[in-house]
Amino acid sequence: MTHPAVSPASSVSSAAHSGNTVPAIPLLINGEFVQSRSTVWRDIINPATQEVLARVPFATPEETDAAINAAHKAFQHWRKTPIGARARIFLRYQQLIRDNMKQLAAMLTAEQGKTLADAEGDIFRGLEVVEHAANIGNLQMGELANNVANGVDTYTLLQPIGVCAGITPFNFPAMIPLWMFPMAIACGNTFVLKPSEQDPMVTMRLVELALEAGVPAGVLNVVHGGEQVVNALCDHAHIRALSFVGSGRVGQHVYQRASLNGKRVQCMMAAKNHAVVMPDANRTQTINSLVGAAFGAAGQRCMAVSVAVLVGAAREWLPDLIDVARTLKVSAGTEAGTDIGPVISRTAADRVATLIERGVQQGARLELDGRNPQVPGYEKGNFFGPTLFSGVRPGMDIYEQEIFGPVLCVMEAENLAQAIALINASPYGNGTAIFTQSGAAARQFQEEIDVGQVGINVPIPVPVPLFSFTGSRGSKLGDLGPYGKQVISFYTQTKTVTQRWFDDSQAGAGVNTTIAL
Ligand code: NAD
Repeated sequence: MTHPAVSPASSVSSAAHSGNTVPAIPLLINGEFVQSRSTVWRDIINPATQEVLARVPFATPEETDAAINAAHKAFQHWRKTPIGARARIFLRYQQLIRDNMKQLAAMLTAEQGKTLADAEGDIFRGLEVVEHAANIGNLQMGELANNVANGVDTYTLLQPIGVCAGITPFNFPAMIPLWMFPMAIACGNTFVLKPSEQDPMVTMRLVELALEAGVPAGVLNVVHGGEQVVNALCDHAHIRALSFVGSGRVGQHVYQRASLNGKRVQCMMAAKNHAVVMPDANRTQTINSLVGAAFGAAGQRCMAVSVAVLVGAAREWLPDLIDVARTLKVSAGTEAGTDIGPVISRTAADRVATLIERGVQQGARLELDGRNPQVPGYEKGNFFGPTLFSGVRPGMDIYEQEIFGPVLCVMEAENLAQAIALINASPYGNGTAIFTQSGAAARQFQEEIDVGQVGINVPIPVPVPLFSFTGSRGSKLGDLGPYGKQVISFYTQTKTVTQRWFDDSQAGAGVNTTIAL
């Protein structure tokens, strides 16, 4: 059994806790890592071992205010920083992330539970956004129309908007913070980040590296906490835009509260992602894709496939699906060959167990029961093996609710139209996929499905940063998504300038009382 050697970030200091010494996660305010004066703290727990890795404060209102005020002050000079200077910081930053990849991944696995390889994937998908931010010179460009009237030109400036805030979930503690602050800062804004209180250590190490890359004091600030801190970010007059990724319940609250306060808000939220399997699909590749996308990261991806819809003769593939799922290895993310690590917390494990029980009670067939797996050396971990239900129908809790664990619901449809109708009737619209060799079926699916991310023989179609992450219906609030072109609009204010210059020969042209130029 190997436990990861995880040294806390250098900004993390030790504090007495229950007679032991565990690292205390600091806040970042105006370029300084400072210890919170809060009386409310939470343990950060390795979900494979229950070891307490560190503790995180719930920042006081004064500390949250100080972070926002530091960002507000820093905006006055950062907004005027030349594009090249901003871009070069992110060029250095991407290299620092690469140089520290192994350490970052070990930290992420220790506090979040996913396998080391998947942790590197989490960091890499964020790194791609950092690379994109380094390209800001080509992205933050306005438009110009020459001679819109005699001697008149109109052009746009994409100017930074001010202090932006980000609130992030536990399941991608590297990628999702990196969706947010690099693009916001590259556009000339300053930022206050509120990472997940369940696994903030890798996020803090990434923040440290951002400062090392040259992000100036006050441009990036971090506060920790829960509802109270989030509400303060939604309410504070200096915050102009707020990005949220997390559950539907919290996302709706954040959207309503921050919008009522006049802020721009983008909320990426819960999901129930369906994969449609047509009988003409490549059988082996499809089954392997489904199993990887359903059970990888213990099903704790917002883009995990949680429902497989077997169409027509593909209904006969169920035994193969079960056989492949059964082969997956359940263990700590640090163990070689692990496919499924633990779920994040005891609370999450209770939720998954309750929903599995309800699935049985409500009449779904539990084909593969992953409850109480034997995991030698990690008896205290929050583990579930691959769990698979067939005979799932709308109305069952396992179908209606996001389980966020390694549980796959298998459903059936007579034909593609029926499968599309089922998906479009779900309240969620985050991701979906179709497996087929028919271009006509794929195109019909692409055209008729009401979901943000669509994969065609691609099970988890998270877009690269040349594009934006999107979402539909209950999975997203706000019109502009994270990263890509859309986030440049989100993080900038368009100013439209119409200009005319007179030379001496045009003096005394007279008064014009019409609206024409
Ligand atoms: P969560 O909603 O519990 O937490 C997200 C953030 O909100 C955290 O920073 C947390 O501290 C804060 N928060 C929690 N309770 C709050 C409250 N009452 N008031 C204000 N803030 C509060 O989500 P989670 O469990 O960390 O993450 C999992 C969820 O995130 C899943 O629903 C998943 O589908 C979703 N998710 C969506 C996407 C996407 O792009 N659509 C990506 C990743 C995760």
